[in-house]
Amino acid sequence: MAHDPYAPCMCGSGKKLKFCCQDILADLVKVEKLIDNQPDAAEKLLRSLLAQHSDKEVLVTQLASVLTRKGQFDEARNQLVEFLRHHPDEPRALLALADVCLATQGFDESRRIIHRAFQLGARQFPAGVAMLASQIAQQMARAGCAMAVREHLALSVRMAPPERRNQLLMQLANFESQRTVPYPFRGRFALLPVELDDELQQEEHRARKVSQIGCWEPAAILYSRLVEKQPQNGALWHNLGLFRAWDGRVEEAAKALHKAADLIDDFDTAVETEALAQLLDLEVDGDAYSIVQVSVSVESVSQLLTSLDADGRMARMPSNVNNENEESARVAAEYELLAEPLSDNVDPENLPDVLADITVYDADESSESDPQVLVVALDDDIKEATALFRSLAGDLAGSDEGNEPTPVSRLPQVCRLFDWKTHHAEHLGSSHFRRIDQQRLDSALQQWLEKPSKSLGDESPLEAAKDANNLVKVGASVITLDVVCNRMGYDPDLTDIRSRLGIPVPLKLETDKEQAITSLPLLQFARLAEPELSDDQVVDFTNRVTLVRHLLLIERAVAELIRRPAALERFTPMRAHMLRATVAREKNDLSRASECFEDARSSVADNQDAFRTKLELDIRELSFRLDNPADPELPALLTSIRERYFVKIPEIEEVIREELVNSGCTHLLDQLQPAGGGLWTPDKEEKAASSEKLWVPGQD
Ligand SMILES: [Zn+2]
Repeated sequence: MAHDPYAPCMCGSGKKLKFCCQDILADLVKVEKLIDNQPDAAEKLLRSLLAQHSDKEVLVTQLASVLTRKGQFDEARNQLVEFLRHHPDEPRALLALADVCLATQGFDESRRIIHRAFQLGARQFPAGVAMLASQIAQQMARAGCAMAVREHLALSVRMAPPERRNQLLMQLANFESQRTVPYPFRGRFALLPVELDDELQQEEHRARKVSQIGCWEPAAILYSRLVEKQPQNGALWHNLGLFRAWDGRVEEAAKALHKAADLIDDFDTAVETEALAQLLDLEVDGDAYSIVQVSVSVESVSQLLTSLDADGRMARMPSNVNNENEESARVAAEYELLAEPLSDNVDPENLPDVLADITVYDADESSESDPQVLVVALDDDIKEATALFRSLAGDLAGSDEGNEPTPVSRLPQVCRLFDWKTHHAEHLGSSHFRRIDQQRLDSALQQWLEKPSKSLGDESPLEAAKDANNLVKVGASVITLDVVCNRMGYDPDLTDIRSRLGIPVPLKLETDKEQAITSLPLLQFARLAEPELSDDQVVDFTNRVTLVRHLLLIERAVAELIRRPAALERFTPMRAHMLRATVAREKNDLSRASECFEDARSSVADNQDAFRTKLELDIRELSFRLDNPADPELPALLTSIRERYFVKIPEIEEVIREELVNSGCTHLLDQLQPAGGGLWTPDKEEKAASSEKLWVPGQD
């Protein structure tokens, strides 16, 4: 084939072919053909070419890639290092070396070479930077450095070629919706503006520039020199803290941010900065507790279930019929091991705690695994739980000596106060359960106020708040509390706690209508002034907090949304009303939730899809209402579902039946029969005859 000598060279250098690889073109084409199926031949050819053209970057990077694919990382590194000794600024060789080092030594050991590769490669080879950044993000996730994960993912999105961008955006969105990551870490953080004298300002600009391309160590080094010259500048310390956090240096980041919080004048900014420092402290704090699991081998599953079922401390969970994946298909039964035995007349106000979750697995012939039982509990409880299980299982449990508990997850000690599991007696309904939960939450919040805290110098929030000098720290600890609660599945209104501690109400954030809401740190969302926002900003606000799943913020966003017809239309009204319904349900306001369902119904246009949409709404309303098994509207709703859908879509009946059983509402099963089912009376026959469904009294 003909190669235009003035076209860009095929090696990707960006130079014209004539001035680049023209003399080795034929050999490069040959390598290309060999590389996938004959790697040894490709390696041999590349080595001999490299011996003649030791300055050709494309040859050494190709050779390194053949070697790494063969698992010869050391040799790949040696080749690249040797090349770079003579050509220290060749970006692709640097990117390739960074890649090998990252894979073999990890980020900490490779930081310098990576940042050098970023600096020299960002302009010409952004795709290489993007790839490295996404790999670093994975390592940061394993190390638990959430801020570094997000920032490296964002960097890889910025740098990625268009064809890879969507996939990386999905990864980012996936990270942002992970509930186990404290919510502020799932959004971006912004550098504070810094004002300095000319010469220093130039250095500051340089730091921002290298930060843009992910070189957070170089940025931190530039900034360290600046804070030496201006040690009282809070904004400098703040930004230094962010650079370090993005670079995976969590402890040092927290130190800089604490310092910044001391120095920043604006109260709310100081509080948010201190809160970030406290949250980072929690990430590295050794004072943590774990959820652990122990696996016990067992025999004769059916016999085991019989003896577990017979004990008052074992509460069997409703079986999950959707056993789609292999693992759950092996589940024979799931139990809650209760702290106290369940009596026949359980006191609804005093439900026992769950000590452990116990899952019984059947044998699996395909993988030749024996039947086994998994006991999952807090590290404090695992011994007691396992012993209890063994006493019930008797000889059916194997000895499993040396089977130590393995950690499932690890949480900062401050979460412990909000970590409980009450046994959920089905017939009482979810609404009752949520009320009990709310009471426990209120008492946990009270305890929090009185409990000494490390971040407050071992004083309790109530004590610390007596000294006005502590207000920033105490204010920050309330934000930390909000984040901890959210992580544990609660979003309580902390206004009252704030006022009890004498913390000023946070000032509303000044935003302009052009500003992208999505670029704000999530910690500032609570300070948005909704009425001041543009329609687009309200839609973005709602989308963002929905992804993050913060109930109170969702409530505020969607309340503003439904005041604005154009914004509501853009968001889609049905989705908005369903969100409102979900918030109302979580707040246990079921009548409010059903109002939202009415709004949702009236927003459905009368088109072809209306039937399905209305069916979906009816089924969802039903599942909401089943939270209160005594809801007087339930029979009427069931009747209308039966009359409207059972004939057209017969499968629905089974779905509803299961839903009733699973929510402890078996007393309503009769409603699924035409005319109420049960005793036949002539009166009922008339009603049934008038309905569309065929009903034969003789079958009763
Ligand atoms: Zn070339």
